[in-house]
Amino acid sequence: MKLVLATHNQHKLKEFKAILKRIILERNLSNDLSILDSIVSAEDLRIEEVVESEFSFADNSSLKAQTVYKTTKLPTVADDSGLIVKILGAAPGILSARWSGKHGNDKTNIDLLLSQLSDIPFEGRSAYFTCFMTLIKSAENDNCDVKTVEGQCQGFINDKPMGQGGFGYDPIFMPEAYFGNYQNSPTQGRSLADLPNSFKNLHSHRAKAVEQLFDDIYKILKK
Ligand code: IMP
Repeated sequence: MKLVLATHNQHKLKEFKAILKRIILERNLSNDLSILDSIVSAEDLRIEEVVESEFSFADNSSLKAQTVYKTTKLPTVADDSGLIVKILGAAPGILSARWSGKHGNDKTNIDLLLSQLSDIPFEGRSAYFTCFMTLIKSAENDNCDVKTVEGQCQGFINDKPMGQGGFGYDPIFMPEAYFGNYQNSPTQGRSLADLPNSFKNLHSHRAKAVEQLFDDIYKILKK
């Protein structure tokens, strides 16, 4: 059965499929890899992007999933994610995509965040990514059966961008999971954009959310 990922972000689609592939292989289900071909994005289906009009990650994620489910009548997954910098009082938060303004982009968002943190030493720059992911399998009389989970990825904000991979704030995000390899010395860390995709797809906020929904998603795709 088809599953819709309610996104127009090709990076998210690629990561979602790569994370599912990783879990399928970990569980020795390699004969089932072709089920990933049944995943389509809202963009593939030419569905208009849903405006994130709510005031929390959870509500925006649920809104995106419900809107796309009601249009397609197909099982739908949506995610609303962003960066939380503790010393900035949890900003950029739900404004992560638009931190430098409505017409901002990844580079201007990063530049603004780095300037806001310029006099904060590394130890004070702890941050995490969060991903609220919603699955809707079915609905009764327009009431969707909504399941939302959260995944997090802890780390620090670097003082300059590093690496070419990933998207969004990845070039300035130093994941804590990597520090262990370097005697807990954050300054020797690498950014998420500098580490292989396989690292991000194992440790990211999105990976931690997909892991919680995997059994449901697997059953839908196998139908
Ligand atoms: P949204 O979930 O589409 O609203 O995305 C919010 C914003 O959060 C993105 O535009 C990125 O700036 C940031 N973001 C979300 N996930 C990631 C990630 O995995 N890496 C880096 N930035 C991310």
